[in-house]
Amino acid sequence: MFKKIGYLLLSMFVVFKHLFKRPVTLEYPEKKITPPENFRGKPVVENCKGCGVCLRVCPSGAIKIDRENNCFKIDLKKCIFCGNCTFYCPHGAIKMSKEYELALSDRKNLILNYPIGGADERN
Ligand code: SF4
Ligand code: SF4
Repeated sequence: MFKKIGYLLLSMFVVFKHLFKRPVTLEYPEKKITPPENFRGKPVVENCKGCGVCLRVCPSGAIKIDRENNCFKIDLKKCIFCGNCTFYCPHGAIKMSKEYELALSDRKNLILNYPIGGADERN
């Protein structure tokens, strides 16, 4: 009996302790976080030389180089946002952006296409 009352008081204490604290969650999507400096979001590519170094260090096989169409591809379905590609790219062509809202209705759009030697993303 006393044990149960003890648990009850303890749980009430925990509730009241947190009642006046700032919430740790946000009312997403109305409110959004500012990602921290070292956040790894959507990888973006600019002026890729097509050397293929990143392809060898990508642990999930998310990167493909289409030599026929001169195109560099990243499959966001496979990407684990590890940042290896940005670390090893000898030309600094690939960066992890702070973009984290990556949900799409069409899976096909989760493959990012970048022209080799160019700057803009192709769709
Ligand atoms: S962040 Fe990691 S998983 Fe994603 S493309 Fe780069 S190396 Fe591959
Ligand atoms: S992103 Fe960098 S490492 Fe990857 S193919 Fe392009 S230039 Fe080479």
